[in-house]
Amino acid sequence: MKPAPFTHHRPESVEEALELLAELEEAELLAGNQSLGIVMANRLATPDHLVDLNGVDDLAYVEETDDGVRIGAMARHRTLERSALLEERLPMLPEAAAQIAGPAVRNRGTIGGSIGEADPAGNYPAALVALEGTLHLRSLEGSRDVPADEYFVAYMFTDLREDELIESVSVPTDPFPPARTGMTFLELKRAAQTWPTVSAATAVRIDDPDAEDPVVEDARIALANAADVPLRVPDAEEVVVGEPLSEAGLAEAAERVTAAVEPEGEMHADREYKEAVAGEYAKRSLETSYERAIESC
Ligand SMILES: Cc1cc2nc3c(=O)[nH]c(=O)nc-3n(C[C@H](O)[C@H](O)[C@H](O)COP(=O)(O)OP(=O)(O)OC[C@H]3O[C@@H](n4cnc5c(N)ncnc54)[C@H](O)[C@@H]3O)c2cc1C
Repeated sequence: MKPAPFTHHRPESVEEALELLAELEEAELLAGNQSLGIVMANRLATPDHLVDLNGVDDLAYVEETDDGVRIGAMARHRTLERSALLEERLPMLPEAAAQIAGPAVRNRGTIGGSIGEADPAGNYPAALVALEGTLHLRSLEGSRDVPADEYFVAYMFTDLREDELIESVSVPTDPFPPARTGMTFLELKRAAQTWPTVSAATAVRIDDPDAEDPVVEDARIALANAADVPLRVPDAEEVVVGEPLSEAGLAEAAERVTAAVEPEGEMHADREYKEAVAGEYAKRSLETSYERAIESC
């Protein structure tokens, strides 16, 4: 099927894009077109106007800030995957980017489009919830900041208003300094180019990498495709903090994750299977983060 007819607009600045959003009826933003194109081709979305952000050059960046990293909405998955800054400061993000589909999708798809789409199976949404990222939203009325875990409201439903766009995303490095920290984005996939069955995003900070059994000082666990929004599980984080990572701690964390998630069953993975896999992948992801934290110095 072909998309329904629409008018294509190509603004060259954020301001111009926002004016178009405010003035046009039934307008949709277009970023990397790796999701919207499919939805439109199936006529599940029939916008009258597309406001194409590909001409807005100053939205495509990854830059260091005083307390972390800021990423422009039009930064491509490939840019995140290859960013030396992210690899050093927030390695969960390049690892999440590298596992999205194949090179063709990663060359065009953007972080803004992924958050805009808000699929609970998406890689960045879970990573941003785990890392307590903040979304910077802008309209003609001004800007507002929304914590990632408040932005995703229900299944593919967000806090974004129709006259707003996602301008950028900030991710703090506190409390995960590169030394003494390990981060992991672990996906279960049936095939390289498919969406994940479940993913587990974790971060661990330890007290002393030279100790025989370093103590976990801080931990984060978030799951993708395990509920109608990306889901953080503080209950499971708590259980591994304050002691060296142990089999017993990991098993309890896995159990708490399995109890917390509320996945939709799919053709290849029913609900029960996804609950179990969420716990197991959270456990494996935590173990890897702990090992990476020990290797970080
Ligand atoms: C075969 C395949 C496999 C995939 N596998 C995965 C996967 O495993 N994990 C994963 O995370 N993703 C996966 N994706 C999705 C991919 O990451 C897309 O690139 C992404 O979800 C959409 O980004 P985009 O830039 O292409 O956005 P578009 O398709 O252009 O837009 C998507 C939505 O976001 C909105 N939007 C775009 N930019 C903004 C903005 N700045 N502000 C507000 N709203 C905006 C649009 O209006 C639209 O509603 C896959 C895609 C394909 C085709």
